[in-house]
Amino acid sequence: MIKPKLISVFILFCGLFVSSCELDEDDYGCHEVKEVAGFKKGTIFIDPDIITEYDASAFAGILYEGRFETRMFDRRINDDIILLAYIFDVSFDDGLSCEVRVNPEFGSMNMAMNEAIYYATVIGQMPNCLRQELRTVTIHKGDQLFGGGDGDILIHTDQAYWYEKDGILEETIFHEATHVSLDPYHYNDEYRDAMCADKAFISEYAEDHPNREDIAESFLTYVAVAYRSDRISWDVQDIIEDINAYRLDYFDNQRFDMYPVN
Ligand SMILES: [Zn+2]
Repeated sequence: MIKPKLISVFILFCGLFVSSCELDEDDYGCHEVKEVAGFKKGTIFIDPDIITEYDASAFAGILYEGRFETRMFDRRINDDIILLAYIFDVSFDDGLSCEVRVNPEFGSMNMAMNEAIYYATVIGQMPNCLRQELRTVTIHKGDQLFGGGDGDILIHTDQAYWYEKDGILEETIFHEATHVSLDPYHYNDEYRDAMCADKAFISEYAEDHPNREDIAESFLTYVAVAYRSDRISWDVQDIIEDINAYRLDYFDNQRFDMYPVN
């Protein structure tokens, strides 16, 4: 039997260990930041042509499954709701698939299917590596921000209107899909080493939230310079290559499946 005093010492030791290892929201484990300014706004705004509506999509087919009681997050109320949603199975031509759940507020199966096809086509423009962990897409009306995580991309269609107007619907969905498929695996030691070696952040948004936005903010810049350098300005390319050099190497070394972007 371990003596009570020994137990309390042990608990104190563990407590110290955990608190020194956990990262705060604004602390990413290295502190030397060089005086290079990244983009003021998030990287979804740097160039609307990184992915456009004319680019290829892997979207291959859609099947209506019916209406089922479904728990869905709705940012208008900032909570989960249970709705009799229209459910569609979506398949992509590289073997991946996902379920699209549409809020019944769109009024009919046909209207819901139009929404599902529209966003499934955009999601099909995302590289394979960003669709691998995608299980569901949730579609509501409303002008709330999109979201990505826990295998789901959250879409509010009135907000999508503004993204389309600015030509950044694809870039925004790319950002959210990065949260879904890369975040769970790539906030690792090697990526943190790359962040520390770069000594700077690509955007103020990444700098403010280095432990949850850096990869989503940076992976889009990787695609911009590695696959779309003919579409972005020299200035934008210079900023990305200057600030994200080691992160770009990290992404390149992963040998991600980029279909249909490549
Ligand atoms: Zn984000």
